[in-house]
Amino acid sequence: RYFWSGVEMGPPDNIFGLVEAFKNSTHPNKVNLAMGAYRDEYGNPYVLNCIKKAEKIILDRNLDKEYAGMSGFADFCADAAKLTFGEDSPGLSDGRIATVQSISGTGSLYLASTFFAKFYPHKVVYHSNQTWGNHAQVFKSAGLEANTYTYYDKSTCGLNADGMLKDLRELPSGSIILLHASAHNPTGVDPTQQQWRDIGKVLKEKGHLPFIDMAYQGFATGDLDRDAFAVRLLEREGLQPVVTQSCAKNLGLYGERTGALHVVTASKEEKDRVMSQIKILIRPTYSNPPIHGARLAVEVWRNKDLYKEWLAELKIMSGRISDMRKALQLGLETNTNRKWPHITRQIGMFCYSGLETDQVTLLREEHAIFMTKDGRISMVSLSNNNIEYVVNCISKLLI
Ligand code: PMP
Repeated sequence: RYFWSGVEMGPPDNIFGLVEAFKNSTHPNKVNLAMGAYRDEYGNPYVLNCIKKAEKIILDRNLDKEYAGMSGFADFCADAAKLTFGEDSPGLSDGRIATVQSISGTGSLYLASTFFAKFYPHKVVYHSNQTWGNHAQVFKSAGLEANTYTYYDKSTCGLNADGMLKDLRELPSGSIILLHASAHNPTGVDPTQQQWRDIGKVLKEKGHLPFIDMAYQGFATGDLDRDAFAVRLLEREGLQPVVTQSCAKNLGLYGERTGALHVVTASKEEKDRVMSQIKILIRPTYSNPPIHGARLAVEVWRNKDLYKEWLAELKIMSGRISDMRKALQLGLETNTNRKWPHITRQIGMFCYSGLETDQVTLLREEHAIFMTKDGRISMVSLSNNNIEYVVNCISKLLI
């Protein structure tokens, strides 16, 4: 009866707390711009057609529900690594990339962090200022510290490339540098390919460890190869990135918790050692990963027709986001007499609108438009049904 009397109420999670508040709102026009889960043009959750078909095929196979191994399904790991690093990856052809199936992107980030905490001499992860709200929490809960490097330039709503390179140069050699592969969350600001080359050069010079979070491959540009440019560039430059891969967005497998962790090592023998230690971290935490999402992913990746349909659906999803960006920019420019070029210059799931915290609060309290306090708008939640309402409410605040 008295065991937990000293437990204090914890603060709600930034994003899931808003989702809860959204659910409780009775406003007839309420809009949830906080959560990053794709919606179709009517605002409904979207299960990809290729996944629906894969699900039927798998059901008909009458498979058992036995455990996967600690590192997950071998076919899933092999395909996930190919998708990440490309068919002609030097690390893959040498057999020196350790890959395990993970509990989606978050689980992969956590697993990598516990691996660093146990085996890497540096215990600080440097991440862009800003970054996804959960990053620092994951690193800290795995026993690491979190610190920042310069990234976002508020004056241009773009990248402060010089500031970023300068910071990377000044950090202690061998630092862990968290990078977003594409569709940077929350800012929507990605380095250009030339800027990635510059970043790669500094990482190499300083012997930093690139820790790349790839949650949006194919979801940013609709092109799997283009969105993996940074990962593949750094790997081919001889760096040894650690990559966390999520299938939540690009396969729409959010709740199936499907993803992978890849550690590029120096040799096959080193890979085997790394792999053995990652399994030792997995065993007492979740023992082995969930099987359903991995089966679906493999079915889509190995079935020619489903793969083709997936590529088309990636284009549909990224195309709809891009259409919504254009509509939001046009609507705001028409109604506010201001320029909003960053909306279409940014890419991916989120738009870093530039709205201030007090404006975000007003939008929530007066118009039931929910977004995180940094003014981040989930573009996938905008649809033809609600964009006019959102544009009108934001415009009213600004004129
Ligand atoms: N990294 C980034 C940058 C993200 O935006 C997300 C999802 N919002 C994730 C990782 C992890 O997502 P999940 O655990 O659902 O794969």
